[in-house]
Amino acid sequence: MSAPLRLMAVHAHPDDESSKGAATMARYVREGVEVLVCTLTGGERGSVLNPKMDRPEIVANIAEVRRAEMDRAREILGVRQQFLGFVDSGLPEDENEALPDGCFGLQKLEDASAPLVAAVREFRPHVIITYDDDGGYPHPDHIMTNRVSIEAFEAAGDPDRYPGTGEPWQPLKLYYQMGFTKERFEALHEAMTARGIGSPYADWIARWEDRPQKWPVTTRVPCAEYFEIRDQALIAHATQIDPDGWFFSCPREVQQEVWPTEDYHLARSLVDTALPEDDLFTGIHADEVSPACH
Ligand SMILES: [Zn+2]
Repeated sequence: MSAPLRLMAVHAHPDDESSKGAATMARYVREGVEVLVCTLTGGERGSVLNPKMDRPEIVANIAEVRRAEMDRAREILGVRQQFLGFVDSGLPEDENEALPDGCFGLQKLEDASAPLVAAVREFRPHVIITYDDDGGYPHPDHIMTNRVSIEAFEAAGDPDRYPGTGEPWQPLKLYYQMGFTKERFEALHEAMTARGIGSPYADWIARWEDRPQKWPVTTRVPCAEYFEIRDQALIAHATQIDPDGWFFSCPREVQQEVWPTEDYHLARSLVDTALPEDDLFTGIHADEVSPACH
């Protein structure tokens, strides 16, 4: 038997793993890949975004509630998951609002990266998925997630860096998750409109700046048959997602037909590959890179 491939997904908050790349993970797990989600913060400062869950007893115990939601989503996706122990920075109302003391967004890069370097050295992923340098959206924890992911990718294989966090391990590819592209939402909007389904995306698309995407999509992973699992995992984060809300306005069948992939930008690669790709592991042969696995 060949050695297993391993995929690590690095996320800022519980629920991000279910809205960004979840169907990809569900697919790879079911194909025998080992998948670990690393969640940098506990999501302690997230608001309750589902009106049906906005109740005093839930708001008062939000950290615990979000852990339980994460457990459920993890089971649905079939992945492993670990929290890396930082505290949510919250989303500032404007750029002048100071971040709260001790939060993830205020950590020094080395302090913020050490637990992820340790996780990489322990789990030994071949591929890491994270956000682009805008964080996908401008939440300080998402931007910091990009920075620590790059730092871990570059440092985990260097025996002189981050001493005391395990044996060096060099991941081979680093991807940015590219789910929220204008191209995709335009396609979904057109398909919904053509089918007479009200689309809520028009204003949003109109406000999108008309410029080339900063990080072009290099890799489209077919995973339409796992969209149902993705949706179930997202709904498990009941405080964060309204099942009757915006996120679920495009019927799953339309998404499966019009946009059956989850998309990525290959940000770093130490292996030869030809773009575009349809597999995050193109160019990687676990037997060659994991001689220690018998
Ligand atoms: Zn988040």
